[in-house]
Amino acid sequence: MSNCVFCRIMAKEIPATVVHEDEHTLAFMDIGQVNPGHVLVAVKKHVENIFALEDAQAAAVFRSVARVARAIRGAFEPQGLSVYQANGAAAGQTVLHLHVHLVPRYEGDGMALTWPVKNPPREKLAEYAEKIKARLQ
Ligand code: 5GP
Ligand code: ZN
Repeated sequence: MSNCVFCRIMAKEIPATVVHEDEHTLAFMDIGQVNPGHVLVAVKKHVENIFALEDAQAAAVFRSVARVARAIRGAFEPQGLSVYQANGAAAGQTVLHLHVHLVPRYEGDGMALTWPVKNPPREKLAEYAEKIKARLQ
């Protein structure tokens, strides 16, 4: 897609600082750098979000995520590492081309994700699970 910034990176129309590449994925430095070593793993083909991802792409994305995560750990020795992936504006996705963030983490680094648990009764968990299982392909 010509108006997609990550497609333009894939086409080398705009520069990116690449750390890893394979058949399906490209990993490059996020321009914003929440912490030093913040990398994005993106699919090469334009796929908007996780719902449109083919199995081979999904496998390749997580293989790259794991490989690059180990390299970030070796290079920066962070206290932790967050893997973050957003689908849709409500989830915080700003670039509509599937990508996964790898963010080295440190105590008190200011990166925050609120986690407003509802702790429903177990029957609710079963109800939710049945709804999902009915749609699983
Ligand atoms: P999202 O909010 O969609 O999960 O993340 C999009 C990310 O893409 C942001 O962290 C942003 O810094 C990064 N980004 C946006 N434009 C560019 C660009 O042109 N080059 C690179 N390397 N990163 C970009
Ligand atoms: Zn794209």
